[in-house]
Amino acid sequence: MIVIDKEECDYCGTCVAICPENCIDLLEQEIDIDYDLCTECKLCIYVCPIEVISDVAAAEV
Ligand code: SF4
Ligand code: SF4
Repeated sequence: MIVIDKEECDYCGTCVAICPENCIDLLEQEIDIDYDLCTECKLCIYVCPIEVISDVAAAEV
């Protein structure tokens, strides 16, 4: 499961722009992934300039 550290995110929008499923919603100081649409392609993880997105096992969430 792809998780964004909302404490560290600076809401730059880079991940929102790259997501092929268009499933990251950015609203001012709020960011959320629509897990019904996320395919776990991990593109967002690679593009985040401050590396605050990670792929964690469901058991760790
Ligand atoms: S893993 Fe892929 S589909 Fe899921 S939020 Fe990131 S870029 Fe979008
Ligand atoms: S790319 Fe990283 S810092 Fe930018 S909005 Fe996405 S999670 Fe936040």
